[in-house]
Amino acid sequence: MFSYRHAFHAGNHADVLKHAILVQILDYFNRKDTPYWVIDTHAGAGLYALDGEWAGQSGEVVDGLDRLLDAPQPPELVARYLRAVQDFNPDGVANRYPGSPALALHALRPHDKLRLFELHPTEIEVLESTLRQLGAPRRQAAIAREDGFGGLKRLLPPPTRRGIVLIDPSYEDKQDYRHTLQAVRDGLERFASGCFAIWYPLVQRVQAHEMARALERLPVEWLHATLTVRKPSADGLGLHGSGMFIVNPPWTLHEELRAALPWLEKILAQDEHARHTLETSARPAAGSPAAARPRPQSQDRAPARAQKRSPSRK
Ligand code: SAM
Repeated sequence: MFSYRHAFHAGNHADVLKHAILVQILDYFNRKDTPYWVIDTHAGAGLYALDGEWAGQSGEVVDGLDRLLDAPQPPELVARYLRAVQDFNPDGVANRYPGSPALALHALRPHDKLRLFELHPTEIEVLESTLRQLGAPRRQAAIAREDGFGGLKRLLPPPTRRGIVLIDPSYEDKQDYRHTLQAVRDGLERFASGCFAIWYPLVQRVQAHEMARALERLPVEWLHATLTVRKPSADGLGLHGSGMFIVNPPWTLHEELRAALPWLEKILAQDEHARHTLETSARPAAGSPAAARPRPQSQDRAPARAQKRSPSRK
């Protein structure tokens, strides 16, 4: 596990999907005054230099965030995410990319809390310095140098009984699929009303497919979005797409994703195999206007389409 550095992938198409959804969930939680916790089981370094050694070397941001910067008419989910990224780049040049801890801190009110887990010694150092740089009060944001799957258990339920749990392992270790599923099952036993957001890679691994199907069988309200940007490579290497599975999603998220996914597919497509899916459980989200009436399972699958666009960095 110690070889993975998220800086290499910062701002790529998978980060775009994950972070646009995370920012939407945070925004939704902020609509109520009641305090909440954000628990990030796999935090990474927090903030990334896009012109730095790692991200600059991989160039993955060119086919991710960069494509969004000049694209016309972003839907609200994307526009909100871009505003959050731009807040970290006040000079207008997108050179700093906020990871999940930075995006969470950006959204939290003084009475909300952030709990971060990270195991990589270098990432922990950078994360600590990121929190200092962002002026996070120690009482509000804390880093635990421990396994996020194990540590999550003792934080649930959060004292405020409102919370977002982001589970975002690198899946370099194929056991991460099993651990993620178990963490959600255990988490729901302790905190049934919690919002759990699980990111996973679309890779040619049976474990990825099985984990997604097992999550869909959970007897809870869920929403499942995937975004594929290109044909899987013949050698099975690289990331051709990713998925986000959200348990107890904000009831507004489905409509926002319905508008955003076709747009993201078009802008991020690398070949004619680009596509997206959006599925939900049949149960309406508590608090939604639809909660009072039964709703059929929704499946929005868009046909594959081609889109070419010259990448640019501002
Ligand atoms: N959530 C971050 C974001 O969106 O900006 C990215 C996280 S990155 C995909 C996964 C991170 O998990 C890596 O920094 C890795 O060092 C860390 N990690 C790996 N195994 C872990 C574990 N068992 N517990 C906590 N962190 C772990």
